[in-house]
Amino acid sequence: KLDDRLKAVAVQIRSRVHADIGSDHGHLLKALLTSGRIERGIAIEVNQRPCENSRSTLVGLAADVRLADGLAGLSPGEADSLSICGMGGELITRILETHPERVPPDLVLQPNRRPDAVRRWALQAGFHLVDEQLVVGRLRYVVMRYRLDRSSADPAYDAMDHEAALLFGPLLIQRWESQLQGVLLDEYQYLKELQQRTEQSQHRLNVLAKLLRLKG
Ligand code: SAM
Repeated sequence: KLDDRLKAVAVQIRSRVHADIGSDHGHLLKALLTSGRIERGIAIEVNQRPCENSRSTLVGLAADVRLADGLAGLSPGEADSLSICGMGGELITRILETHPERVPPDLVLQPNRRPDAVRRWALQAGFHLVDEQLVVGRLRYVVMRYRLDRSSADPAYDAMDHEAALLFGPLLIQRWESQLQGVLLDEYQYLKELQQRTEQSQHRLNVLAKLLRLKG
């Protein structure tokens, strides 16, 4: 059984061979294989215990389970798509930057923190944002689907406040759904009431104030 976060990830994936880095329990790949969204799965784990957990979840299914550090466990061209979920944006970015030639053309990334690091990476690596979903539960997550396209700049950022798009998501801002508005207003109130602001929280407050003014 997948939680809402991994369900939101799973609906973004449909491919022949899919690799999941940091597979942990292996539940995402199992759901993708049993629902027929993928034909073959590759689970990659850097730690022994979660690697064994993935192995036992995926037994009997069309999946390889590998003990490796990120893309070191994947050959170039081996997978059509890849997911990295439930880690900080900076770690996700580091994994992608370590072996750029092994990154498949379709990606689903779900950073727990610092989604802006992932967005910056995608812009310079030539990936376009195809879809972006906010999952609001006990915590808030963003699920992003990217496709490699070096033919042009990512149109999701056209006519956008670049800083706001990097921090809060260009497609989420374009759609401006009530759920996002609620999340941003909550953060704005919280940041405004903070007595001591770090440089980062002051920056978020400035960018948010401008965005909320712009959107009326
Ligand atoms: N992806 C799952 C999810 O979203 O529920 C698990 C998230 S869990 C918090 C992060 C997992 O990533 C851990 O099992 C950890 O061992 C693994 N991990 C962290 N860095 C990794 C790396 N460089 N390569 C492969 N796995 C990694």
